[in-house]
Amino acid sequence: MNDGGQGGRRAGSPSVRLEGVTKRFGDFMAVDALSLDIERGEFFTLLGPSGCGKTTTLRMVAGFEDPTEGRVLLDGDDVTGLPAFKRPTNTVFQSYALFPHLSVEKNVAFGLQRQGIDRGDVKSRVAEELERVGLTREAARRPRQLSGGQQQRVALARALVNRPAVLLLDEPLGALDLKLRKQLQVELKRIQREVGITFVYVTHDQEEALTMSDRIAVMNRGVIEQVEGPEEVYERPATTFVAGFIGVSNLMPGEVVSANGDRAELRLDSGVTVSTDARGASAGERAHAVVRPEKLELSRADEPRANGKPAVEGVVESSLYLGTATQFVVRLGDSTAMTVLVPNADESARQRLPGAGDPVRLAWANEHIHIVREPKTAVTN
Ligand code: ATP
Repeated sequence: MNDGGQGGRRAGSPSVRLEGVTKRFGDFMAVDALSLDIERGEFFTLLGPSGCGKTTTLRMVAGFEDPTEGRVLLDGDDVTGLPAFKRPTNTVFQSYALFPHLSVEKNVAFGLQRQGIDRGDVKSRVAEELERVGLTREAARRPRQLSGGQQQRVALARALVNRPAVLLLDEPLGALDLKLRKQLQVELKRIQREVGITFVYVTHDQEEALTMSDRIAVMNRGVIEQVEGPEEVYERPATTFVAGFIGVSNLMPGEVVSANGDRAELRLDSGVTVSTDARGASAGERAHAVVRPEKLELSRADEPRANGKPAVEGVVESSLYLGTATQFVVRLGDSTAMTVLVPNADESARQRLPGAGDPVRLAWANEHIHIVREPKTAVTN
């Protein structure tokens, strides 16, 4: 473990740069020519399903794995081929990997002591990090006397105390129960803001990624399909994979009938023509339109249409009471299934909601429908 320190950083260089980074295991392409810049102080998440290559990418940044091709740069320095301990990075793993025979305090102090740092400095830096993660009172305990969440806090303090330029986190909350995970998500975000260190976070949990990240890279089969902020990735998924992986897909297939600058007209297979953002689509192209479940307004088909909003018609297939909302699945004329979330704000309104078999209309405001195109390059593994 290396103290990257704050010195020596080149102004203007990204914190992490991947240039055409590829990793093959035999014939298998785990990471495919990935290029990416992560800015200093960013909370950056690699999100994707199991096996998409996110851990391998993180391990190449850490130096636990060498790329087959491409370069890894940290603060402008080419670190490709450099062993992990010579990089200004630290990694927090899902398995806390603490020393069982050492106290919390000694676990956190270990790296600094090995670097020969002055005892007084070690003591104050350890105290500062324990305070940051809320473990001051547990300093003398052994890891087995701590809960899973507390052990992960020790692992975090042990990494932060080295003041790495980049902290790499590989599913650090994966072993914790849901409630604790949510609590620690908020804490991790607070800590990241406080220390201002670049965090590169790996998870397959979309909600976790949306909660914490400044930007999210959604990975699928070794490539990144979209890199944007949480809101963009959720509201305007760039590909059908992203739309399906983050939230409920709600994709309506259709054909682009015209595209003019920023806007496109899309004739949905269910028979309605809608206006969406163009995102580079051209006439004749097959594409999808997405509207998120909470953005759809459900009404009975025989009610008069309100305020000229665009809408499609279908039949309720099922409805499910979820406490705060009721979830409907509506089957459109072209057999597309759409999920709709109706908030349960008013009990009498809830009693009047349509049921299975009822014909309904789904409407939306223009700004909530977006075009989703297929990725330009289909990846074959
Ligand atoms: P998970 O969340 O399951 O860890 P991931 O997205 O992090 O998934 P990686 O661990 O990066 O995925 O693995 C990507 C692919 O590379 C997987 O199919 C995996 O089986 C393969 N792989 C990873 N490490 C090796 C290795 N050392 N040898 C051979 N194949 C490997």
